[in-house]
Amino acid sequence: MCYSILRHFLCVGGKEMTKVAYKIVINQDWCKACGICIALCASKVFAANDQGKAMVVNEEACNNCKSCILHCPDFCIEEKEL
Ligand code: SF4
Ligand code: SF4
Repeated sequence: MCYSILRHFLCVGGKEMTKVAYKIVINQDWCKACGICIALCASKVFAANDQGKAMVVNEEACNNCKSCILHCPDFCIEEKEL
């Protein structure tokens, strides 16, 4: 599994209340190495491994835009709360 740690802040009444950590997880068994997520991620979080499958290489750059999750045609990518 590849993962990226994301940190978000939940705001209640305009005040930061809770810090929540997430990770981006790629199901390598389902990945067909299409490269869509690598091309779409403006933050360059992903790179291709030697099989062309996506892997996380720059986890701290993730801004939680969810573009990769929404566009992966094989539903390989998900966000999991830590
Ligand atoms: S978009 Fe999905 S199937 Fe395509 S390379 Fe990324 S994780 Fe793999
Ligand atoms: S959520 Fe956005 S910034 Fe994070 S890995 Fe996916 S496309 Fe890149």
